[in-house]
Amino acid sequence: MSGDRRDVPPVAGDGNGTVAAANSGKQATPVVSVTPSQRLRLNPNKDHKPESYEDLQLDFSPSVFSSLEQYLPPSMLSVSRDDKMKFMREILLKYLPHGEGTRVQRHREYRQKIISNYQPLNRELYAMHPSTFFVPSFIKAISDNTEESFRSIMSEPSPGVFTFEMLQPQFCNLLLSEVENFEKWVNDAKFRIMRPNTMNKYGAVLDDFGLETMLDKLMDGFVRPISKVFFPEVGGSTLDSHHGFVVEYGKDRDVDLGFHVDDSEVTLNVCLGKQFSGGELFFRGTRCDKHVNTGSQSEEIFDYSHVPGGAVLHRGRHRHGARATTSGHRINLLLWCRSSVFREMKKYQKDFSNWCGECLREKKERQRLSIASAKSELLRKDGESTA
Ligand SMILES: [Zn+2]
Repeated sequence: MSGDRRDVPPVAGDGNGTVAAANSGKQATPVVSVTPSQRLRLNPNKDHKPESYEDLQLDFSPSVFSSLEQYLPPSMLSVSRDDKMKFMREILLKYLPHGEGTRVQRHREYRQKIISNYQPLNRELYAMHPSTFFVPSFIKAISDNTEESFRSIMSEPSPGVFTFEMLQPQFCNLLLSEVENFEKWVNDAKFRIMRPNTMNKYGAVLDDFGLETMLDKLMDGFVRPISKVFFPEVGGSTLDSHHGFVVEYGKDRDVDLGFHVDDSEVTLNVCLGKQFSGGELFFRGTRCDKHVNTGSQSEEIFDYSHVPGGAVLHRGRHRHGARATTSGHRINLLLWCRSSVFREMKKYQKDFSNWCGECLREKKERQRLSIASAKSELLRKDGESTA
């Protein structure tokens, strides 16, 4: 949900966000009651082709409904789209923590107030125009849509960290000037804005001033195809909501960013500019909730230097931080992509997470020990028989 903007420092150990996304400015639909026997399936019905909910005014993203449809109990698949929608909405509402309803409502009003007063500077940013936003190599890789085509433009300098050239300089400049224009408006109007997350004092939420639709297209058309290939185990193919924002580092801005995990399944981090030194991203391995504070293996230690227009894609649970920006200003675009299906499934999961470096290390260690004990048992038996 866009109101949910927590970054989670590993020490807090609380990586759980809430399920689902609420879109702003949309009307609520009446609530119907659900009988307890109508439970969701544990695994999606892949043969079922979900309906489109794009044309409806809903308080959750239409793509959430489409994803959730594959989890509906068989008896629900034959009912009308409207009834399915009501049933699913009831479930989604259940996952909102107590008091969340009013928070969502208040955030919707906040966003509405901005959008009806703020005059955008560069209208061309508010709809998706791939040919002017992205470099040609990126567009080609996405349209080819194969692992090979993605690998051809990407490096994976450390396991699970993908870097590639993405944004055109002209797009970066337009977005930078739009953010500057927004901040000027905020100052002039003495409007109190919400910052992107709990860890940044500066920066702005792009979704709050009209860029939500464009960023949804960025996630749907460009981030999800890649995540489907590289991050399937953390819901990469079912990303259905996002939190989009910019962060600003340098003099009179945030200086650095502590070690943390994101409240996302997959994070896209693109440098927009301008001139700066320092500000490297440091990575320290992917961890589940249980292992978020464990040490790093040497192969998990990786530092990345930002280049304007260059993107980094990683799992939200990949622990990272940003070193001090020592001179100039650095502004980055962040897109936290979330999957409500993954968050729902995580609840049923056993203790082991196949995407956690520490879970994997423990599993290997258990295997090593059991092989070692089997070996010594064999040797012992062997010794007995020859004795
Ligand atoms: Zn783990």
